[in-house]
Amino acid sequence: MSKNDGKELKEKLFADNSNGWENLSDEELKNIFQFADEYMYYLNTSKTEKEIVQNSKEILLKNGFVDVSEIETLKPGDKVFYVNRGRCIYSAVIGTDSLENGFNIVAAHCDSPRIDLKQKPLYEDNNLGMLKTHYYGGIKKYQWTNIPLSMHGTVVKPNGEKINICIGEKDDDPVFTISDLLPHLAQEQMERKLKDGVQGEELNVLVGSIPYDSDEVSEKVKLNILKLLNEKYGIKEIDFMSSEIELVPAFKAKSMGFDYSMISAYGQDDKVCCYTALRAILEVNQPKTTALCVITDKEEVGFNGVTGMYARIFDTFALELLEKTGCTKASSLDKAFSNTKALSADVDAAYNPNFAFAFEKNNTAYLNKGMTVVKYTGTRGKSGASEAPAEFVAELRKIFDEAGARYQACELGRVDKGGGGTIALTLANRGMDVVDVGVPVMGMHSPYEITSKFDVYQAYKGYKAFLQ
Ligand code: MN
Ligand code: MN
Repeated sequence: MSKNDGKELKEKLFADNSNGWENLSDEELKNIFQFADEYMYYLNTSKTEKEIVQNSKEILLKNGFVDVSEIETLKPGDKVFYVNRGRCIYSAVIGTDSLENGFNIVAAHCDSPRIDLKQKPLYEDNNLGMLKTHYYGGIKKYQWTNIPLSMHGTVVKPNGEKINICIGEKDDDPVFTISDLLPHLAQEQMERKLKDGVQGEELNVLVGSIPYDSDEVSEKVKLNILKLLNEKYGIKEIDFMSSEIELVPAFKAKSMGFDYSMISAYGQDDKVCCYTALRAILEVNQPKTTALCVITDKEEVGFNGVTGMYARIFDTFALELLEKTGCTKASSLDKAFSNTKALSADVDAAYNPNFAFAFEKNNTAYLNKGMTVVKYTGTRGKSGASEAPAEFVAELRKIFDEAGARYQACELGRVDKGGGGTIALTLANRGMDVVDVGVPVMGMHSPYEITSKFDVYQAYKGYKAFLQ
């Protein structure tokens, strides 16, 4: 050993901690930026879970996937999908191996934090038309004030008629906003703790101010708004009762930085994984193991409900695949699940230089260092975590290395500082090997989340290699 061999030894023994943008081929660079443009287009046309499912279905149809109900028997290479209530979409490419030997699953979620309307939302306060809301998912409420909001959703009438609403996305559309208090009068508000700076019942949306022209009635602004809604959509106040209307940031996804290296957009948790997983399954052909892409709803509120990942509807779809390929034993589904490998495709928190104290620098995710591989989630002593077996993580390293897909090991923030969970445990509880693999996001759950174009492309490459 000489004194000069340290550099070589370090390269051999240390984990690669380089910036992903270094030493990229021209072709890879071109692919990264092109993929990012396509992803941003998807983001701008798919802001809510229903829009994601609709757009994803169209992409699948264009690429030769068919509704599973249209096929009696499935054979290797067949491409099918199933839509659950317009809010989840599961797609599959049938493998050459028996389905009892398991699936390879990449599972992402299409719901993102947002502001939902209550079921009796409209009221008038001193000649201003307002909407009551209930926020969805974990948000810092003050971040959602004084930004342009667009309104997306569906009103369903008792006769079954569905009215889709989308206001605020087109250039000449109006937008809405939740107005915060001006600093001049906020002395008292500023004494509140940050978490109470803007409270749940203060998230009321300003939606109108022209009164209905009549001397005989009260609440003329509310009346005028209802008149406009009735003319345009045929709805009455009671119809909000059977509606799902979401307010989301009205701004568009954009490249960020002088060097265009990043993407800022609403809802990248977890649309970034929905899109990369979807793109990955489009390119899977004649796999040995049946490949599945899951886009599920209700992750942000605990995986429950008929469109959440705890719901057995996913199992019903898996069972349909088994039956249509001739696996009809009572134990077929359990056997398949216990042989299944899954990636819970969800984002992780990227290091933020403005708040370095919240991160443990050795184990946090960084922008530009590739996919995040999160062996366990949970809070305080890994509570509530689904921890992936080391054996499975090792298998993944092999797959990603061979595909040239860059990854980083990480966990969410400092120990005991907080934490979070993903659908990983809902899959693990079904008997699957599962680990969280996603994309680092800065400013997660804010109206404007940041990812790196390099990382987004690595996730697509990694998911593709895993599914194939
Ligand atoms: Mn997520
Ligand atoms: Mn989330």
